[in-house]
Amino acid sequence: MKDEVLLFVGEVLGRYGFPDGHPFSVDRQGAFWAEARAQGLDRRARLAEPRAAARAELLRFHHETHVDWVETRSREGAGYMDYGDTPAFPGVFEAASALCGSALEALERIMAGDALRSFQPIGGMHHARRDRAAGFCVFNDLGMVIDALREQHGVRRVAYVDIDVHHGDGVFYTYESDPDLVLVDVHEDGNYLYPGTGAAGETGKGAAAGTKLNLPMRPGARDGDFFAAWERALEHLRRQQPEFIVMQAGADCLAGDPLAHLRFSPEVHARAVRSLRALAEETARGRLMVFGGGGYDLGNVGAAWTRVLAELVA
Ligand SMILES: [Zn+2]
Repeated sequence: MKDEVLLFVGEVLGRYGFPDGHPFSVDRQGAFWAEARAQGLDRRARLAEPRAAARAELLRFHHETHVDWVETRSREGAGYMDYGDTPAFPGVFEAASALCGSALEALERIMAGDALRSFQPIGGMHHARRDRAAGFCVFNDLGMVIDALREQHGVRRVAYVDIDVHHGDGVFYTYESDPDLVLVDVHEDGNYLYPGTGAAGETGKGAAAGTKLNLPMRPGARDGDFFAAWERALEHLRRQQPEFIVMQAGADCLAGDPLAHLRFSPEVHARAVRSLRALAEETARGRLMVFGGGGYDLGNVGAAWTRVLAELVA
């Protein structure tokens, strides 16, 4: 249903990508968009205008030293923003700010009743921490949405669901002790892949113990393995009755991704989004935000994310 879904695609978001043959290239949004248009999906969602986050908005989640650091690196346009995965480029501050501003715009419009669901393909920077960049992630748009839900909108019980092949450590550890942040993360086992975290025994700390469900998958896992894990995920989420759902739908869990070793098909994305949409309608007044996350094979990016959008507009 067209009026219900906001789609954030635009030139400024497309600029979030790293130079010199980096796997997180500037071609990822275009790969999705070409496929979405070929399938006529572009006409079935409401295109929304990306916007930059204000400095004050960035500072609600990130430490000032990190925001300043990114701004300086962006001006210099050289070197790395972390230990060597995330290179600086001229304008990286503005591009990363646009991911966050667009995420906050989607949230505001959903909370105002202007839409029910959103999709932002270039977004979902789940490795960034409050004080640092990591793993291609400069600012954490997901954490900014979660914090804004609590602080600006009084919505505490939020579910974060992550099917990107990498563990969403930047979200997990930020809210590890938060009993109202319900989390499900399906990822390739950290013994085989960056960032090395997300073991099944990590379920949250203190009062939050049991609110997080990490579902590590062995290399080579296929759709059947995902669907078995997903049943547990849905059971966990249903039990926790979230009031709002945020999803990171990385395409790097598909077979053929150059950085990882799972062998899922885009049916995983379709089924996951379909069931989260149904769950949102049961417990969260239909409110669901989806971000594209990772994915480094352009064909996979187009295939996975068009399945995401097709389920959101169905
Ligand atoms: Zn990833």
